[in-house]
Amino acid sequence: MTQPRSISILGATGSIGASTLDLIRRDPGKWRVVALTANCQAADLARLAREFSAEVAVVADESCLAELRSALAGSGIDAVGGATALVEAASRPADITVAAIVGCAGLAPTMAAIEQGRSVALANKEALVSAGDVLTAAVARHGTTLLPMDSEHNAIFQCLAGNNYDHVRSITLTASGGPFRDWSAQQLAAATPAQAIKHPNWDMGAKISVDSATMFNKGLELIEAHHLFPVGLEKLKIVVHPQSVVHSMVEYRDGSTLAQLGPSDMRVPIASCLAWPARMDTPCAPLDLAKLGELTFRAPDEQRFPATRLAREAAEAGGAAALVLNAANEIAVAAFLAGQIAFTRIAVMVEETMTRFSPATPTSLDEVIALDAEARVRARALLELA
Ligand code: NDP
Repeated sequence: MTQPRSISILGATGSIGASTLDLIRRDPGKWRVVALTANCQAADLARLAREFSAEVAVVADESCLAELRSALAGSGIDAVGGATALVEAASRPADITVAAIVGCAGLAPTMAAIEQGRSVALANKEALVSAGDVLTAAVARHGTTLLPMDSEHNAIFQCLAGNNYDHVRSITLTASGGPFRDWSAQQLAAATPAQAIKHPNWDMGAKISVDSATMFNKGLELIEAHHLFPVGLEKLKIVVHPQSVVHSMVEYRDGSTLAQLGPSDMRVPIASCLAWPARMDTPCAPLDLAKLGELTFRAPDEQRFPATRLAREAAEAGGAAALVLNAANEIAVAAFLAGQIAFTRIAVMVEETMTRFSPATPTSLDEVIALDAEARVRARALLELA
């Protein structure tokens, strides 16, 4: 009998965490769960840690540790809390780590997982956007296998298999266009948080749902692709594809375009990462193209949705521009969700922060974290001016 594979899930209580654990639950004998982490949802985390007999459960927010400890009393599962404990848990040996914390908060634990030199399945796009060069250098230094979990990047990863970057003519990221893709500029200005988090095709956490509505999600993904697949920024394209069936495509020099298609269910790319380089079953309904009838594509509208332009500018500028874009976006999205700013102010705030703050390239994780904190201060200052 083969040994179970060990797995840690950073961000276990989130949407990606739930989808990953759903797949593991279907074949529990295959897996041994090492670390499960959350920010503060201690009761949920404790329930998952007990169900999956995790070695350790971590809440990043130390104020939630007492609740976690009491919920895990007598279980034999280590209950720990705080930023250092999170990084230590991510350093515990695991064959594969799913990096699914939302935002730049996932950076240090993701780095700790990379430093193990095993496999890291990366959903936490903000970490790669903010610290792309630092993270990819660590991946190379430690011989880590980095598996892209974001559906678009997972699609590209699959379409590139067995091929050479030299033969790539272009890579096209598809975008659903989000819930507001057909809204006028006037309607966008009045969009509410409840409308923004209601994605037409995907069921995701609040932050990425707002990013999808602004198209910052696609902007972040453009920068993510730039780090993961170094074919040159000019070869990276975006097309709006409302049905979210084609998850991305790679065009080769001979005119062949390879695309990956699948249902809009994150369990498909998650399964691709968990089983890679093999395949595993998922409960997802097979695609029924005849029932779908048509797949449509259109160019993005950067007038109504400036996010992809800003992301391309950040990627072109290099240095810390993408880090600043990401930090400002995180602050602006939180302010929008809290009802402090209008939907259309998100992109304005990001652009203003980028214009006012252009620090030098960070070369270490500590520098990235310090610059990220500084960029957040600058973005928050704009909130006060608004
Ligand atoms: P969720 O908001 O659903 O979950 C986020 C997870 O991160 C939760 O476990 C949460 O804990 C934890 N977390 C939040 N803040 C912190 C913090 N400060 N420190 C440590 N842990 C924290 O997010 P998603 O699952 O939707 O997204 C996770 C990542 O995956 C994001 O980077 C997103 O862009 C990316 N992604 C998501 C997709 C999706 O379909 N959802 C698709 C592709 C990429 P708690 O529950 O305690 O708050």
